[in-house]
Amino acid sequence: MEDKKKSEAELLRDQLTFEYPSIGMKAPDRRLEEAKAFCVPYMDFLTNAKIEREAAARALCLLQEAGYTPFDPAKAYGPGSKVYFDNRGKAVIATTFGSRPLSEGLRLNAAHIDAPRLDLKPSPLYEKDDLAYFQTHYYGGIKKYQWASIPLAIHGVIYKKDGQRVDVCVGEDPADPVFYISDLLPHLSAKQNARKLSDGIRGEELNVIVGSLPYRDEKIKDPVKLRVLSILNQKYGITEADFFRSELEIVAAGPARDVGFDRSLIASAGHDDRVCAYPALRAEIDSQAPTYTTVTILTDKEEIGSMGNTGLQSDYVRQYLEYLAENGHTAYKDMLKNALCLSSDVSAAYDPTFSSVYDPQNSCYLGRGCVLTKYTGARGKSGSNDASAETMYKVIDIMDRNGVYWQAGELGKVDEGGGGTVAQFIANMNIDVVDLGVPVLSMHAPVEIVSKLDVYEAYQAFLAFYK
Ligand code: MN
Ligand code: MN
Repeated sequence: MEDKKKSEAELLRDQLTFEYPSIGMKAPDRRLEEAKAFCVPYMDFLTNAKIEREAAARALCLLQEAGYTPFDPAKAYGPGSKVYFDNRGKAVIATTFGSRPLSEGLRLNAAHIDAPRLDLKPSPLYEKDDLAYFQTHYYGGIKKYQWASIPLAIHGVIYKKDGQRVDVCVGEDPADPVFYISDLLPHLSAKQNARKLSDGIRGEELNVIVGSLPYRDEKIKDPVKLRVLSILNQKYGITEADFFRSELEIVAAGPARDVGFDRSLIASAGHDDRVCAYPALRAEIDSQAPTYTTVTILTDKEEIGSMGNTGLQSDYVRQYLEYLAENGHTAYKDMLKNALCLSSDVSAAYDPTFSSVYDPQNSCYLGRGCVLTKYTGARGKSGSNDASAETMYKVIDIMDRNGVYWQAGELGKVDEGGGGTVAQFIANMNIDVVDLGVPVLSMHAPVEIVSKLDVYEAYQAFLAFYK
């Protein structure tokens, strides 16, 4: 009836122009409730899997609970069989075998479980003017000044001389101490204030305070350092030399928290990219009878260019896929030719406070659904996968047929900067791939923000993709 009141131009506008549906405004209440419920275990995952090793371990735990077994290339697998592969405790691949033969295609979903952080230097501990510190070397793209004057936690592993592994996690339990990087008081910051923002806190100033009480012996040089070492020795049985056999990472301390009076957003360390990795893992586990065989990849080292043998530039995924092809008596090349992959990574959510760096028509927004990104890269799409129109068609069609709320976005205005994802490395394997993920506000900050609605739509997109 209402249409009768519309002018010809209004009707034409409805017919010809495109607008994203608003989840908050138009989606059924049930969808909003489901999103809220989905994010409860996601927030638990965020809180308990702050570094790549912890995320891999949690993922393996969830896979095993869901009946996944280690992939054995010599075993025969049928539709619905579920297997996993653990790459050095830092990257995980999971597969559910589909009803169609491997030669007809494969559905891959690649997300990463490393996040920007501060790593301890190989010899980190020192004392200066009655304070004990850990020296750090930042990992990934960070704004260094954001890491000062916030509570920090230490996560990672140390191997002792005899090969015994010690797991470290301090700063997360409310009873734990936290750690801290100091910043200058405003009263004495005249010179620091004149520095460029990127230089506000410098790499060599990212020193973490770990103690201030001396070991009581006047004869000792660096008694505060010694006291810290004696505490570490009591707690973990380690000595200073054991730091050379460690990987210790500094992250913002504390659990994931609801943000806003409406509790619609989540603040947490490392949403990038566990906000895709967790929904990808859940979609993998929840896919009981997929048409095409699934390959869910939770990879490491994305934030430093996918280097190393747990990153996507190494052959570990390729070798897994080769075993999969052999196992299914399929030619590897044929299997890949018909494969379709989502590179599941975050994108920069439009920030109204800093709107000048975004193209409002080609940005993703918090709360408008998962974000499809045709290309990333910088300047003239340098370093981009740039998905084909055909690939865009396939993925949009899957989402539309399954009622997924999605939006398209590119990472900021042309020539404002840019970034990359693992899509390019997947594409190098001759696989059709496009980026699909979740909008993040304050991306790469020690604590980032996402919308619960978007997290759930990413899960819905991944689930539909695996149907
Ligand atoms: Mn990422
Ligand atoms: Mn990132």
